Order: sequence, then structure tokens, then C-alpha cells
Amino acid sequence: MKTYQHLFFDLDHTLWDYDRNVTESLSELYQIYSLQDLGIPTFEKFFESFHEVNFQLWDWYNVGKIDKHYLRKERFPRIFEHAGGNYKAIPAEFEEDFMHRTSSKPHVFPYSKEILTYLKEKYRIHVITNGFNESQAKKMKSADLDGYFELVITSETTGYKKPDPRIFHYTMDQLKTTPDVCLMIGDNPASDILGAQRAEIDQVFFNPEEKTIELTPTYEIRHLKELESLL
Ligand SMILES: [Mg+2]
Repeated sequence: MKTYQHLFFDLDHTLWDYDRNVTESLSELYQIYSLQDLGIPTFEKFFESFHEVNFQLWDWYNVGKIDKHYLRKERFPRIFEHAGGNYKAIPAEFEEDFMHRTSSKPHVFPYSKEILTYLKEKYRIHVITNGFNESQAKKMKSADLDGYFELVITSETTGYKKPDPRIFHYTMDQLKTTPDVCLMIGDNPASDILGAQRAEIDQVFFNPEEKTIELTPTYEIRHLKELESLL
């Protein structure tokens, strides 16, 4: 086992419980805006459409096919259409409300704060995220995660998204460090694991759902607590 100095954490789906936070905020929006009256028959339909459309758009965003502006402008019209609703009736503030509501949610994965407290004593810890500056900062504040990290590096600041190794190079330049003492911890094989491999940084694949993947990460864990025996 190498002696690491810097740990890079992904945020969404690794520390910040994206699914739980988003589900809560979508459910509130469904009620508040009476989406049933706009043609979306059930919350389940809305929820399922959100997932399908949003993940497609994020995939495109991650490979550089679309930008932030396009993602935000297109997201809910496409979700409404997918769910059989009248997308022309979407209130103007809907996207803004979704962003604000979601990033204000506090839920994190079990043992997130405990493990960060433990690791902070032994390592310098940072975030590398493909999210947007404003929303990631808000999420970290709402979830009380903002006191743990030295650097928070976003794709928006650097202009590079994981798995582009340049987001890791940028981070290591800031820290004046080298790949052999860094470790990436994240849930997404296509961005976190592949990106770190491209930058020759060891990786921990956080895999609570026990997905099978093609890449071979350096380490794999199912629960954040397992980091205690690794690090
Ligand atoms: Mg993630």
C-alpha cells in the first residue's frame, strides 16, 4: 500500500446523497406546482422521466456534447415531454426552484462525516466534482460538509471534466504534488475511476450497489466506513 498524502473525493453519490436529496425536492415540486394538472399523471412518472432525461443530459455534458446553459434550459421541458405533460406550461422559475431546493438538502451517505473527521487527521482532503460551482458550494454548506476540505475543484472552474485527466493535473499543480501520493474516491467508473487512471492516480471505487464494471479500480468499497481499514 502506498503512502498517500492527498485524498480527492467526488461529491454527488459519494458523500452527498444525490438520490435522496433529489427525490425529496422533486416530490415537493410535484405537489407545489400541481404537476398533475399539467398532465403528469403521477409522481412516479415524473420521477422516472427525471432520471431518464437528466442522466442522458449529464452524460452529454460529461463528454462535452452540451454545456451548462443547454442542460439547464432543456432539462425540464424534456422531462415534462417524456412524462406526457404540457411542457409549454412549465412555470418560468421551475428550474431555478429545483436547483435551489435540491442544493439546500442536507442528506449525506451513512458515515460521511465520521470518515471525513477520521481522514482529516491523517491526510489533506479535497473535492473534485463535475458539478457547477454555485450548486456544489451550496450543497456542501447545507449538508455541513464544507469544513473538511482544503480545495474544492469543479469542472466549471478548471474547464475540464472527469474523466479528462487535466482536471487532476490542475488539482495536483495547485497542490504542488504528484500522482503517486494521491488517491481518488468516487462512485462513477466513467468519470472518477477512468479519469484517475488516466492521470495515473490510484482509485477507490465506492460501489454501494455492487455494480459490475469493466475497469479494475485499485480498491473497491461498499460502505464509506471501509476506508478506515484502507487508510
Ligand atoms: Mg459521483
